[in-house]
Amino acid sequence: MPLDIFKDDAPVLRQKAKPVRNINAPVRKLLDDMQETMKEAHGVGLAAPQVGTSKRIIVVDAGAGLYEIINPELLSAEGTECAIEGCLSIPGWAGDVDRFTTVRVTGLNRDGSKIWLDASGFLARALQHEMDHLDGILFVDKAKTLMEATQEDVEAVEVAAKPTQFRIVYMGTPEFAVKPLEELLSCGHDIAMVVTQPSRRGNRGKVQEPAVKEYASARNLRVLQPESVDDETFIQAARDAHPDFLVVAAFGQKLSKELLNTPKYGAVNVHPSLLPEYRGAAPVQRAIMDGRTRTGVTIMRMAQRMDAGGILAQSVAEISPSDDAGTLGEKLAALGAAMLPRVLQEMAGRTARAIPQDPARATRAPRLSAQDEQIDWSRPAAAIANQVRALRPEPGARTLFGGKNIKIRAVEETGPSAAGSRPGTIECDDGTLAVVTGNGILRVQQLQPAGKRLMTGDEFVRGYRPATGDRFESPA
Ligand code: ZN
Repeated sequence: MPLDIFKDDAPVLRQKAKPVRNINAPVRKLLDDMQETMKEAHGVGLAAPQVGTSKRIIVVDAGAGLYEIINPELLSAEGTECAIEGCLSIPGWAGDVDRFTTVRVTGLNRDGSKIWLDASGFLARALQHEMDHLDGILFVDKAKTLMEATQEDVEAVEVAAKPTQFRIVYMGTPEFAVKPLEELLSCGHDIAMVVTQPSRRGNRGKVQEPAVKEYASARNLRVLQPESVDDETFIQAARDAHPDFLVVAAFGQKLSKELLNTPKYGAVNVHPSLLPEYRGAAPVQRAIMDGRTRTGVTIMRMAQRMDAGGILAQSVAEISPSDDAGTLGEKLAALGAAMLPRVLQEMAGRTARAIPQDPARATRAPRLSAQDEQIDWSRPAAAIANQVRALRPEPGARTLFGGKNIKIRAVEETGPSAAGSRPGTIECDDGTLAVVTGNGILRVQQLQPAGKRLMTGDEFVRGYRPATGDRFESPA
């Protein structure tokens, strides 16, 4: 629901807004309402005090995607530039204001996750303008000159900032790649074609369509699934599409130089890690497996060497103890999607800067192997818990019970193990399922015997009747 915009001498515009302590439903509702209010007023940003709520919340849409930031803080800034600004709370006026050219801002998103945003140009200006509102500062306080502005002038400023619409060849395969495609479509870009890996037969012979194919087909986009992207017919099809950009997200095949040369402005890749860390096919799973508490998304200019291109944008995300590969992948996809439109505008406007990766800091995140799925109970409880999270929802961490495969789906660390107890030993005297590890005990909350449904540890104890002293084994 659009809200009334407080104007001119309204006292709330001059107060120092309070930090948000608790991101609850009313805060998320306020974010929704602020967006609607901003859109209806044709603004590029809005701060909560402008709708009468003295809280540190801003929304900004400077033509390169929507940003919602709770408790925003300026971490660093560089350069100065002067340009004309207006304000929805001071209708009828415009003025020249000096602002930093590039800023790094941090804050929380609506899920309470910490976000970092590197912005330049118009987006950086909008962020600074909105953050000033939170301190009771209005642009007129900083303007070097002020002039009366009609609605038309203000709109002219907005038109000048309108983003260009591009023709894009989009390449991506799994769920992670859906969000960025959705974002490009919502910005009005022309998706000339969508390229995914060929559909594969699943374990029961059923054809599994890549998530991106399902999404694209439902929207009547042209979908290609070449066996090899080096195929000359495919490269010609990509050339014939005359793309401005090739946008790649978790596609799953190396791209040739011929293909990378097809777009007018270049090829970019959305990669779910803080490159140069975790180059490769399984960055999300590997970061969880390693027990990391933070990771991020990088948008890079694509180079021939896998994941080695210059960094165009990067944002950090926290990994919470409850995250698994599914939830973290979703979080990173949303973050990458939000960063993408701005990068494309900057590349086309030649204001993008690609920072080379430091090869000395590079680490690898190779595709998961069957070996990675096996639980080695002699490892510490914390490491096994990370492995279980990293392999959820798929493919699942595995062990053997009585020679049969079992997927361990969820575990919890409960405490130290008694001296001398053998790793893999089951303890179930109290009706719950616990397992001795190399260091500590893990309680199994959810597991799935081969061909059976998902069950709790207690259900397993009742149904499979293990005795204390029985063991989960690793395959030889
Ligand atoms: Zn304003």
